[in-house]
Amino acid sequence: MIIGIVGLGLIGGSLGLDLRSQGHRVLGVSRKPGTCERAIARGIADDASVSPSFLRQAEVVFVCTPLGVMETAVDEIVPYLSADAVLTDVGSLKGWVMQAIAPKWANFVGGHPMAGTAESGIEAAQRELFINCAYVLTPMATTPPEVVQRVEDLARSLQSHVYICSPEEHDRAVAWISHLPVMVSASLISACLSEADKPVLELAKKLASSGFRDTSRVGGGNPELGVMMAKYNQEALLRSLYAYREQLDQAIAQIEQSDWATLDHHLQATQHHRPNFMQ
Ligand code: NAP
Repeated sequence: MIIGIVGLGLIGGSLGLDLRSQGHRVLGVSRKPGTCERAIARGIADDASVSPSFLRQAEVVFVCTPLGVMETAVDEIVPYLSADAVLTDVGSLKGWVMQAIAPKWANFVGGHPMAGTAESGIEAAQRELFINCAYVLTPMATTPPEVVQRVEDLARSLQSHVYICSPEEHDRAVAWISHLPVMVSASLISACLSEADKPVLELAKKLASSGFRDTSRVGGGNPELGVMMAKYNQEALLRSLYAYREQLDQAIAQIEQSDWATLDHHLQATQHHRPNFMQ
């Protein structure tokens, strides 16, 4: 199959490496000539160009740019796509993508491979990034089934687990397990920094170990990603944050009232349920 990839960074580049190794011909498009040269040199693409007209022959095109430029990128490539080409994206949010992009191409299906590292750019691309990861597809009622099937087959060929749901369900689910943790983790770091007693704050920094490392990791990540989550998933994120605030208020009340039995019951329940999120 001839596969186009627009945006040759961590996700686009990793897709290129795996799809090429399966024997597909990969055509890459990026905005910088240097990225195109690296894509060929690293074996990410058979050929690469800064021109979207390059995608005329592509049968399936993955749009792997940052969300902020995805709409423009799609506007640029659509005039060159063959009539039966399948278009998909890898954006981390699906409600906005389906509103902005789906109307531009009938054979479009939204996708989100839930894999990544802390790195970005073409040098971060790696083989087998998607093995055992969830790959969510968000077709609409009007999406031709064969379009969904084509992208689903490619996702399965990466050894990902495919889940099909609505864009709203996807965005609400990722608000709980990805976007809320970023805000909670960032708030944890800010709360620690609010310690007014400087020697205590310095001591806390020195004593911080694995527990703080685990709970502060996502809050100490790329600020752009956090803002992107809030901007493109505002409603679902706020809903999760309000629920989280309610949980915090309950914990505060239990501790203020020395209600150890209720606190114990609560922590027993969270201990019991956590493994269900780690499958
Ligand atoms: P990334 O490593 O920064 O790669 C994005 C690439 O897009 C850059 O290498 C850049 O290439 C290229 N680009 C930027 N503007 C472009 C344009 N107008 N036209 C063509 N190419 C352009 O980002 P990423 O982590 O792969 O994320 C890409 C997408 O994957 C995002 O939509 C994100 O939501 C989604 N996603 C990310 C993760 C994750 O963990 N990172 C996980 C799942 C999904 P140049 O070198 O040419 O500038």
